Amino acid sequence: MSKSSLSIKSPVIEIPYIGEAQSQKLQRLGIFTVNDLLYHIPVKYKDTSDVITISQLLNEKEGTIKAKVEKVTNIYTRSRKVITKAKVSDDSGIANIVWFNQRYIINSLQEGDTFLFDLKLPSKPGSKDHYCSDFERINVEKGQAHLGRVTPIYDQTAGVSSKWLRARLIYLKDYLPELLEDNLPDEIREEYDLISLSDAIDKIHFPESFDDVHLARSRVGFDEMLELAIKLEQKKKKRLATHAPKLNVDERKFNEFISTLKFELTNDQKNSIKEIHHDLAQGVPMSRLLNGDVGSGKTIVAAFAAYTAAINNYTTVIMAPTTVLAHQHFKSFSDLLSKFDIKVQLLISGELLEPTIKPQVIVGTHAILYENFMPTNVGLVIVDEQHRFGVAQREFLQRQDQQELFPHYLTMTATPIPRTLTNIVYGDMDVSIIKEMPKFRLPVESHLVPYTKREDCYNWIKKQITQSENTEQAYMVFPLVEESEKSDMLAATQAHDELSKTLFKDFKLGLLHGRMKDQEKDEILTSFKNKEINILISTTVIEVGIDVSDATIILIENAERFGLAQLHQLRGRVGRGSKQSYCFVIPSKGTKKDSDSLQRLNFFVENSSGFSVAEYDLGQRGPGEVYGDKQSGIPEFKVASMSDLDTLKKARSAARYLMKSKDL
Ligand code: ADP
Ligand code: MG
Repeated sequence: MSKSSLSIKSPVIEIPYIGEAQSQKLQRLGIFTVNDLLYHIPVKYKDTSDVITISQLLNEKEGTIKAKVEKVTNIYTRSRKVITKAKVSDDSGIANIVWFNQRYIINSLQEGDTFLFDLKLPSKPGSKDHYCSDFERINVEKGQAHLGRVTPIYDQTAGVSSKWLRARLIYLKDYLPELLEDNLPDEIREEYDLISLSDAIDKIHFPESFDDVHLARSRVGFDEMLELAIKLEQKKKKRLATHAPKLNVDERKFNEFISTLKFELTNDQKNSIKEIHHDLAQGVPMSRLLNGDVGSGKTIVAAFAAYTAAINNYTTVIMAPTTVLAHQHFKSFSDLLSKFDIKVQLLISGELLEPTIKPQVIVGTHAILYENFMPTNVGLVIVDEQHRFGVAQREFLQRQDQQELFPHYLTMTATPIPRTLTNIVYGDMDVSIIKEMPKFRLPVESHLVPYTKREDCYNWIKKQITQSENTEQAYMVFPLVEESEKSDMLAATQAHDELSKTLFKDFKLGLLHGRMKDQEKDEILTSFKNKEINILISTTVIEVGIDVSDATIILIENAERFGLAQLHQLRGRVGRGSKQSYCFVIPSKGTKKDSDSLQRLNFFVENSSGFSVAEYDLGQRGPGEVYGDKQSGIPEFKVASMSDLDTLKKARSAARYLMKSKDL
């Protein structure tokens, strides 16, 4: 075997038989270098390793045979079409093959030579000629690349055929050990039963069996998880090497806080408080995610942390994703903390509400980050819905305090994130989960309303609001019609205009969409809160945390377009007071009864736990679909599975080992 002049970084154009045009097509698939090509993972495999005889083929009507070309001819029809006919044979018999309009195929089929043919007899009665999906000349020296084996099928979108790719890859096959450096130490490979990297890449593209595919994918998937695990462990190690104020509360003060609450805490709330209590006293910065369904009572848990900071004379900064939510948090935290004489202040548009009073808790939006005003003794940062903040903002935040002591960090999210995913996305953080709902809370009654019953549903809402003498209120949500913000706005706007003239002409309707200015949005929401509006027609802008306790009905149109986690967020807008609340989801016109999307919606209305619906959706549609944008920090794996907690655990322990032994 000669040494290749290629390296892993060589551009693909240096590989034999890859020219300018093909190289450009490969670029469209994100393949620029030899390495990219080797890591172009097949989307699936086709098994043609079971080669049958012609007599079996005649019986079974399809299969892969090994046969000699006896005769091959091109026949020209009157309409100038070309039909290629071949007669092939083996010891057991003769088979006929036909190709249409592939006049040059004849050049590849020399009479007297032996090939593998993948054939199928068309189902038309009386057919004698087989259709051929693929054929390959017997290659004694190198073995087969395409047929008579487990064959990889690649993404064909850029006009690059799997067959062409396999033929290019087979050139690299011999050089794999020389091209690929295996960075995984033998002891780790042995511990987790992993094959070598060159072996894995070989088996990914040229497996002998499905067992090979499995071995190859295990190794490549492990590497992906390991890369992530090293990042997570390094981040954690870096944090643990810094210092934070030791924040303690003695038992008396702890009980004092608990005793002021108007209700008993749920066990999950108690546990979360305990975990935070423990973290704050360690002298290293806490980094904790508080993950609890809408209405599960995260605010009190966060307030306990702020209380602890205040007792120790440290300031807490709380950031909400929107101005409306900042106001809401300001009120909640003031209610909970002012009885201990802790000063809570709102910081909006560059000014404190009462500039003369030194605050111990500051509530604002992420705009806080860019204010000149920032106290020096910040001991705790609480961020609501962190994933709504940009990556840059998040990093800025962590750099905020370049003093000796770093602040503790607590982030809350009402997006129920299954455990597997928190381990990946928030893998460097500790997680507290609140699954339990406060007692006496009535679950929201959810219904799937067929499109044909839509009118009835609208009328029911009308009746419900009228009967309550306008004390109850409703949301109606319209999603994207097409992939643009404009049409999103349009759907809601049209519905608003139409409904206010027809069915709901005696009601006060409000309109809310993402293209409105913040101030405009605030005004609309305030009038909704003050009951000057009965029905708020909206786009998904109401999704995050808006709290109007007399809103008892939410209706969601084109519901199948939403992920279940998002639907659940919307459902969380109601059921916040003591009255029974309702959530109606209406699929788009023409949604089929037995379709997957309708099944999803059925699961949604039958399950009230955000964690169950999120888990279900994660399994069905994958995390990218469920949690959306890149900002959410979900890594892109080519091979590893997001739900493979087992491999992640192994990768993390391997990462810790590598960091110790290789000083990463
Ligand atoms: P979220 O987790 O959505 O932020 P909140 O903290 O806003 O939820 O709590 C929702 C409501 O439930 C608030 O009115 C709060 O006072 C109330 N609440 C919180 N914990 C309990 C509890 N253990 N028992 C009864 N009500 C509670
Ligand atoms: Mg909240």
